[in-house]
Amino acid sequence: MSAAARAAAARCPEHRARFERAGLSPDDLKTPDDLFGLDPVRRIDPAHWPGPPVDGWGEALKAMGLRSGDVVLTALPTRSGRTAETIDLALGRLGCRPVPSLANDAAFQITLLRDLSCKAYVGRPTDLAALEAQAGRDGLDVDELIPARVVLVLEAGRTEGEGGPPAPAPGKTGLRAYASAEAGCLGYECDRCAGFHPTVDVLIEVLDPESGRPAEPGRPGEVIVTILDPERPLIRYAPGDRAVLANRPCARGPVSFRLIEPETGSGG
Ligand SMILES: [Zn+2]
Repeated sequence: MSAAARAAAARCPEHRARFERAGLSPDDLKTPDDLFGLDPVRRIDPAHWPGPPVDGWGEALKAMGLRSGDVVLTALPTRSGRTAETIDLALGRLGCRPVPSLANDAAFQITLLRDLSCKAYVGRPTDLAALEAQAGRDGLDVDELIPARVVLVLEAGRTEGEGGPPAPAPGKTGLRAYASAEAGCLGYECDRCAGFHPTVDVLIEVLDPESGRPAEPGRPGEVIVTILDPERPLIRYAPGDRAVLANRPCARGPVSFRLIEPETGSGG
């Protein structure tokens, strides 16, 4: 933990100032309990983030079922340039073959999915919904077009790009990633427990809004993200999302959480 804290303080003035305010040195952070001496940070200048954060994406994409040799249609909007670039790198390291396409050209995507036998789709829920609608008009079966997993990208704190809420996965095969352009993939949706599991170096806290202390499992609170990878360090960052920690461990991982959709107030 202190290696990540040292890296964060060296790289990022927002982290450094917070350590100074708390009278702590990065070396003082040895266990997760030590994090409570630091207030959550809510804004970090984009220039102070490390990157590109590839490792979290690789772990998540593998957990979501992608394997070496899979052809994957990537349909991310051009303004998510960093996310798109990072996902392409992660897919390449897994041995997958990414096929980039325009986010909103459903007809062309259908041609690519058929001609290249793509196994998966990586894109936003809204664009996938448009693709499904187009496939329906063409009389095509989406499960045949995209036979295995559908991976949807959600961006932490501004999930649909412009500050909107996390959209539910429209397809029955859809699994979502919880991610931010700057910090990379923070967690991935699990087909067994329907919650999100944090990627390996990520600690997710859910804080009771009243007390600022950890919320009981099953109780909603504010998401706080810590990344212990010194290559993409982050100490107690609040992306602006709400979640509930699961009551029970899952076979895929001891910790899972459900994101709360801001519009409906229900678990997602
Ligand atoms: Zn699970």
